[in-house]
Amino acid sequence: MHEEIKRAILDSIRAHERIILTRHLRPDGDAVGATMGLCRVLRRAFPDKRIWLANDDHAAALAFLGPEGEPPDAAQYDGALVIALDTGNAERLSNRHFRRAQKLIVIDHHIETHPYGDLAWVEPDRSSTCEMVVDLCASFPDVLRLDRESATCLYTGMVTDSGRFRFDSVSGDTLRLAALLLDEGIDTEALYAHLYLNSREELRFHAHALRRMKVTPHGVAHLYVSRAAQRALRLTSEQAYTAVSFLDSLRGSIIWIAFIENGDGTIRVRLRSRFVTINELAERYGGGGHACASGATVRSRREMRALIDDADRLIADYKRTHSGWQ
Ligand code: AMP
Repeated sequence: MHEEIKRAILDSIRAHERIILTRHLRPDGDAVGATMGLCRVLRRAFPDKRIWLANDDHAAALAFLGPEGEPPDAAQYDGALVIALDTGNAERLSNRHFRRAQKLIVIDHHIETHPYGDLAWVEPDRSSTCEMVVDLCASFPDVLRLDRESATCLYTGMVTDSGRFRFDSVSGDTLRLAALLLDEGIDTEALYAHLYLNSREELRFHAHALRRMKVTPHGVAHLYVSRAAQRALRLTSEQAYTAVSFLDSLRGSIIWIAFIENGDGTIRVRLRSRFVTINELAERYGGGGHACASGATVRSRREMRALIDDADRLIADYKRTHSGWQ
């Protein structure tokens, strides 16, 4: 599937001497894995081209994947090919210079709300953008060759964005493509230790989150993490953002939401669900994302409470009209 667009992407890569890979703000495992993995594959395939990671927003927790190198000067964008990975709309790109590029390619698995790019390969049913990058490599195996380092980056994105191959976006293709990565000899034990072991502070935060979690009448589990709590628990913002994953296993709570206060007073919203679709709810608050994993930013506690009430109504409707959820 999508053979023509993959061919067009490879043709564009071949046609440009300067290529810059970019991704969304506050990058996660998929965004970092896809940009770093594809960068390494392209550098091996085209050693004479100049290929950069835009490299302007980092995830400290993923530093174990290795250095990202110096970013290009702004002037290097003129006439270059920019490839934006894992980013559903241009506003979320971590980098503003992309507008200077000669051509912008988008490779992404989010539901498209504001299409952008000169050439966009978007498949919302894919479990991760890394899965799509592996698919691209598998389509041109003589050119885009994987190795252990690129496979480790791409596997990181596949594992983290699919909840360790648990979400229903995981297909037979996901596992067939992941198998190609394992064939490169990834050290999965070391990788999972980097991704999933906790510090004592993180475990203390987990306990705090479960104590403070609230549940609405129809079952929205939610948690607010103020700046004061982040300071008291000695959490970095990145650690505070993980709160959403602590709320995911209460039976009957088919929507769960973490609200994390940012340094500027705004509140980052991370929404997750099973069975019920939540991206339209996120869009009503200026955000977006996937059917069962979305995000937004609200500006006040009042807006936060309105969002919780809307989520409660959404669950109530869903439970009234569906069975089989738990
Ligand atoms: P997060 O909770 O930040 O991991 O977000 C879950 C999903 O929702 C990600 O795939 C994001 O791309 C998407 N998302 C998060 N925040 C926003 C936003 N403000 N606007 C649009 N999409 C978002």
